[in-house]
Amino acid sequence: MFVQSGIVRFFLFLSFGIWFVHCQTTNPFPADKINAKTNPVGTSIEWIKIKETVWVHKSFGSFQGKIFESNGLVVLTNQGVVIIDTAWTEPQTEELILGIQTKFQKDILFLIVTHAHDDRMAGVNLFHKRNIPVYSTNLTAKLAKEKGLGKTNPILDIQTRLYSGNHSVEIFFPGHGHSPDNIVVWLPDTHILFGGCLVKDLDAKDLGNVKDANLVEWENAVKRVLTRYPDAEVVVPGHGNWGKLDLLRHTIRLLVSPNH
Ligand SMILES: [Zn+2]
Repeated sequence: MFVQSGIVRFFLFLSFGIWFVHCQTTNPFPADKINAKTNPVGTSIEWIKIKETVWVHKSFGSFQGKIFESNGLVVLTNQGVVIIDTAWTEPQTEELILGIQTKFQKDILFLIVTHAHDDRMAGVNLFHKRNIPVYSTNLTAKLAKEKGLGKTNPILDIQTRLYSGNHSVEIFFPGHGHSPDNIVVWLPDTHILFGGCLVKDLDAKDLGNVKDANLVEWENAVKRVLTRYPDAEVVVPGHGNWGKLDLLRHTIRLLVSPNH
């Protein structure tokens, strides 16, 4: 009996350990929407075009039999492709890299990682192997190293704009929210704001993984994003459906009244 409960406790510990390293939403993606031919843990990613030059890459992870989705971006420029965040798992990140090559016939210029959790940077070594730069802030680089999530090149500051061909990409650190290092990415040419895990989708009923969160500062961080990017037309959260600036206001509502 002791051994049995010990094993159960071990697996519970293991499960929670895995659970807490990413920033899932509480709303599982309906399993019936997953292509039955694919591996149930989700090794097949989805591509959704949201503007002529911007796609969402959607990947999947499972926990306790439920499948959750995760968003990143693919930005097409006339010089190549910029990727915002990896897929959730390494095999899906491999699929993302190969997919870009076959779908768009363009080189990948660089990857931006929006914080040091595995749903943002699983498989960064696949980029290193191909000599594709992986950019992050200093803090993300430090946390990623501590957590064994891989190496990044910390060229990004609190506010940095990178120019890639006919597009530019701005990163902004608004303060500690979901994680101490969470950044958002602004695409000024298309008015798309990638909020990452700082921003919850409208269906989110709670804040998801708050292990590394600052529940006091988070609201101010979201308000700084609202003030800075009032003309965002599309807001993409780390998980769940994208929409407009309402997602930021919904995130604040969840923070102000967690039992919303
Ligand atoms: Zn996270």
